[in-house]
Amino acid sequence: MKLIVDFMCGKLVRWLRVLGLDAEYFRETDTRALLKRALSEELTIVTRNSRLSSTPGVSMLLLKSEIPEEQVKQVLDELGLLGSIALFARCIVCNGELKAVSKEDVRGRVPFYTFQRQERFKKCPGCGRIYWEGTHVEHMKRRIAELLGGEDGAQAERPDGSHGTAHR
Ligand SMILES: [Zn+2]
Repeated sequence: MKLIVDFMCGKLVRWLRVLGLDAEYFRETDTRALLKRALSEELTIVTRNSRLSSTPGVSMLLLKSEIPEEQVKQVLDELGLLGSIALFARCIVCNGELKAVSKEDVRGRVPFYTFQRQERFKKCPGCGRIYWEGTHVEHMKRRIAELLGGEDGAQAERPDGSHGTAHR
């Protein structure tokens, strides 16, 4: 299932990509263009805009909450995507599907310390960012477990891309 998320939900988009879900970010405010895209490419719209929800023929999920974590939970629950989760399969920045690359391929392109310590690297074919599984992956897995378990983890770190996952 390919999702198209409206411009109001930027944090949700990053979360969905962390989970490996195909989530395009629609940055424009033109709802007609959004509906047209969704119809022609059979995308499921994820939106906070209740005025969109009455459009016939378009697959759509209307988000109930303004809180990104709750939005993620609703998307997973109501679209039945729990089984589709694949951590670090997708670029958080551009939604590209990450491809495994050899360690030699990233020499000089990641911090030396990281190169020394990590064995598995992935690269985004879209924007060229390199990803690796650092210690934060464990943290992220816990956050996701909390999220799916419904615990309150609102104080924890968010996947905003500033934690060192990605490196150009
Ligand atoms: Zn990318």
